[in-house]
Amino acid sequence: MQTSTLSQSSLAPAATGLITFEGARVARSAYSAKYRTLSVRGRLVENVSMPGVGEVLRLPGDGVTINLSGFMVFPGLINAHDHLDFSVFPRMGQGPYPSWREWSTDIHRSEESRIAESLRVPLETRLSFGGIRNLISGVTTVSHHNPFLDQVFRGDFPVHVPHGYGWAHSLAEIHKVVERFVQTPPGWPFILHLAEGTDQASQREFDVLEHLVPLNEHLMLVHCVGLTPAQWETAVNSGTGIVWCPSSNLYTLGKTLAAEQILKLPNVALGTDSPLTAAGDLLDEIRFVHEELGVPARFVYDLVTTKAARLLRLRNGEGNLQTGSKADLIIARDRHHTPAEALIQMSWRDIELVMEQGRITMLSASLAERIPVELKEGMERIFVDGVGRLIRAPVQKLLEQACLSLERTPSIGGRKLALTEANSRPDCGHQPSLERSPIATRNDYFSPEVMNLRDDCH
Ligand SMILES: [Zn+2]
Repeated sequence: MQTSTLSQSSLAPAATGLITFEGARVARSAYSAKYRTLSVRGRLVENVSMPGVGEVLRLPGDGVTINLSGFMVFPGLINAHDHLDFSVFPRMGQGPYPSWREWSTDIHRSEESRIAESLRVPLETRLSFGGIRNLISGVTTVSHHNPFLDQVFRGDFPVHVPHGYGWAHSLAEIHKVVERFVQTPPGWPFILHLAEGTDQASQREFDVLEHLVPLNEHLMLVHCVGLTPAQWETAVNSGTGIVWCPSSNLYTLGKTLAAEQILKLPNVALGTDSPLTAAGDLLDEIRFVHEELGVPARFVYDLVTTKAARLLRLRNGEGNLQTGSKADLIIARDRHHTPAEALIQMSWRDIELVMEQGRITMLSASLAERIPVELKEGMERIFVDGVGRLIRAPVQKLLEQACLSLERTPSIGGRKLALTEANSRPDCGHQPSLERSPIATRNDYFSPEVMNLRDDCH
């Protein structure tokens, strides 16, 4: 299998001691950013302190100091819902549809050849591109709605994929909902698509679910567009978590949740869903819910940091930059806004550095100049819509593998990927292969007819 070559890549950064960022404003909350010196050692933030006050003692030869004057440091973003394996798919469907069922039926009929083409890309390669799609937009943690694959996600994957979750696709596989819910350890979230539709069948799903599993803060329901006001009230009062995927909902259903509904929820987060239905990336989603749907900037900030961390039960300080938290951070130019105001104006082009668990995983060309060589070791260059980035992923191998299967330029979320600025296809050496990857087809779940195949992946 081609996938084994990726697993063998040695992409971990060289061992370093202390990494100290100085001269930047550091986001302390949605409202506040202060000039701080931020030190990282290993996977953790070792210290965040006022310049010259209480800084970590830096011994000669112990690590590196990076001047970030003119920049702002934010916590790494958390994407509460994606299907990383659908990364190389184009957007499909001509909605609005009454529910995801009609959408699925339609695309399997009308998009058969493009589905087959995308599925020819090996599963591990598609998952990696899903990680890259998130990485480029400043996401450090992604909740992946499909089986957790140890050999992929525990290695040098571009983003952190939490493994502690139970899941089922939806009530379309009702027997699996109960079976897997019972198997999910206490304290883990149980994640399920629910009421992804505006028809009566979607509306009934909540009532059915109530009889299957307890409604509480351990349950994470994705979409919930079809809930009635009474069902909504029950969900809110029970503390049930809800993941909002607005651009995906509007594309498939022509409708999504209203800002007033979202603002009342105790447990809520924002997710992109996959490029099959979503527009762009998490930053596009963030701008959209603020500008078009009227969600206040401070609330949007929390949706992709602290609220998402709580919903996904992340326990290592994700979503917050403080001493002892996991060193997940992103860096952008400081335009002298609050962190929340800055975030709702950002696009992927503004993200200049991503650090995940203390390793630099993405760099812009301009910021790369300030970073010592040893911290960039193992990173490879990629061009996204002609914009260069250094990322910690085997770019050349991934693009070559995608080119073996695709008859179009590889793209993620509508953005073209290339090894060179000219957006040229990498030299694959031969024509796209017509051979289907058995794993790829086994992991395809979006048609009810093939859902039962997904159990094979566990
Ligand atoms: Zn989904």
